[in-house]
Amino acid sequence: MSDGELTLAHRARYQQDLWDHTAHLKARYGYEDCHPLNRREVSDRIGSQAYFGGYLDTRAGHLHPLNLAQGLAKAAESQGAQLFELSAVTGFEAVSADRMDVRTTTRRVRAQKVVLACNGYLKRPCA
Ligand SMILES: Cc1cc2nc3c(=O)[nH]c(=O)nc-3n(C[C@H](O)[C@H](O)[C@H](O)COP(=O)(O)OP(=O)(O)OC[C@H]3O[C@@H](n4cnc5c(N)ncnc54)[C@H](O)[C@@H]3O)c2cc1C
Repeated sequence: MSDGELTLAHRARYQQDLWDHTAHLKARYGYEDCHPLNRREVSDRIGSQAYFGGYLDTRAGHLHPLNLAQGLAKAAESQGAQLFELSAVTGFEAVSADRMDVRTTTRRVRAQKVVLACNGYLKRPCA
């Protein structure tokens, strides 16, 4: 049994795409740790005949999202960050060259810099 993450084809027609993906990772990025598996190799690993092959990525893994969020919060606070939960930013503006005024649903925050880290799907920066 190897550590890592299995990505499996639950339809026969998906198998080749998964194998192509491992070949692409190797050819394009030099990533050698994604291994194509046939149906028998999958079955040997998980004891099920339900899947039509797939791949094993021996460098992939899982993390616990809540533990990650809490760990990041703790690390940020230990470096002096103040965290304000349930305070969506509704707008911000530069008041001077080194001061931003940020409005939230619960308070105003003054900051030297503003980092927009609201996911790539943020429609537009609030202004
Ligand atoms: C169901 C699901 C499964 C996923 N699985 C994987 C995976 O297996 N592997 C992987 O690599 N990626 C996965 N992703 C993608 C990954 O979660 C995102 O790419 C990543 O979290 C983006 O990080 P981020 O910091 O840019 O944004 P986020 O983690 O989304 O953080 C943005 C934060 O900004 C806050 N925010 C937004 N607007 C405002 C506002 N106006 N004021 C204040 N705060 C605001 C949000 O509340 C949020 O806390 C998955 C995503 C989903 C939805």
